[in-house]
Amino acid sequence: MQKSAVAVDSKLPQVGTTIFTVMSRLAADCSAINLSQGFPDFQAEAALFDATCRAMRAGRNQYPPMAGIVELRTAIASKVRELYGAAYDVEGEITVTAGATQAIFTAIAAFVRAGDEVVVFEPVYDSYVPAIETVGGRAVFASLRFPDYRPDWDQVRSLLGPRTRMIIINSPHNPTGSLLRSDDLDRLANLTRGSDIVVLADEVYEHIVFDGRQHASVAAHAELAARSIVVSSFGKTYHITGWKVGYVLAAQELMAEFRKVHQFNVFTVNTPCQFGIAEYMQDASRHLGLAAFYQAKREFFRQQLAASRFELLPCHGTYFQLARYGAISDLPDREFACWLTREAGVAAIPVSVFRHDGVDDRVVRFCFAKQEATLAAAGERLRRL
Ligand code: PMP
Ligand code: GLN
Repeated sequence: MQKSAVAVDSKLPQVGTTIFTVMSRLAADCSAINLSQGFPDFQAEAALFDATCRAMRAGRNQYPPMAGIVELRTAIASKVRELYGAAYDVEGEITVTAGATQAIFTAIAAFVRAGDEVVVFEPVYDSYVPAIETVGGRAVFASLRFPDYRPDWDQVRSLLGPRTRMIIINSPHNPTGSLLRSDDLDRLANLTRGSDIVVLADEVYEHIVFDGRQHASVAAHAELAARSIVVSSFGKTYHITGWKVGYVLAAQELMAEFRKVHQFNVFTVNTPCQFGIAEYMQDASRHLGLAAFYQAKREFFRQQLAASRFELLPCHGTYFQLARYGAISDLPDREFACWLTREAGVAAIPVSVFRHDGVDDRVVRFCFAKQEATLAAAGERLRRL
């Protein structure tokens, strides 16, 4: 073991290991069913692997263009035009990224300066605030209030000031499964009109929206789109979270700034996966069918828990189900999640970790991106409590 010769002055003194890593490790240590970290326990289709292997064998293994291969950017442009009626230019307004996490970090690094404020909504996805703080910015917290987790735009208005540089939104929302509606986007457009505030829209679950609702993409809102960076991820859409491929849409001037950082952050994203995804995307049913696919899983999982003592909250999108456990335990949510993993053999994510003030509504998050057999086995264990 080496001992550091420098006294480390951490830029992120509050940050430890992410809850996803912590809970997945605990689940493995306890041989528990892992419904904590969000990833599927089933395979993507062979056609995606075949297309990717074909690209590798055909020698597509050197650096691709910095913004991503043109075939993939063209496929993304067509999808976005068809779904949201938005015309993003393949050359200047679409960039392929190494997943959404890199896209978010790069967007923040490109636009947020030391001392700038960034409005985030909590519960807040765990990568946003550390990224803001790494570049010297300050997160300002708006609330999505339990139990419906709707934004309060008057509160957001009260948080805006001369230092506000960016507002980060996430819909469908992780961890709550709530959605922004098009009138929410109108409110946001009103609030930011005439300002230089950049909107960063995390839409990684754009295709996972339930009960016939439509995803209100910022891309479809012309006024808002003009000040926005829109982020998506193929990890969620094609069941390949470990591939780490996503993309960003933005108006040319914003994208030019994004790319200045992107090219020195990752430069490019692995070539054969881009070719594989570009080919696989040609069949639109593969992303359009996702909502029905996950709605069936949501229904199955909710049925499993219907006879349990968990109280299920609504889930309008994403592959996460929130549940109150007050009828089972008085423990704070972090302790309850550990207890559940150890004693009941099912791992979940405590929702208070997504809040800076630690407010604990005694709610945990289950991931239902799992095979029915996994969900049934978890259901059996959870019904015993
Ligand atoms: N944003 C949200 C809301 C997410 O849930 C996730 C991953 N689950 C990401 C970003 C990161 O996506 P990626 O794995 O493509 O980096
Ligand atoms: N976004 C995934 C989740 O919410 C996890 C991603 C990660 O492990 N960083 O569970």
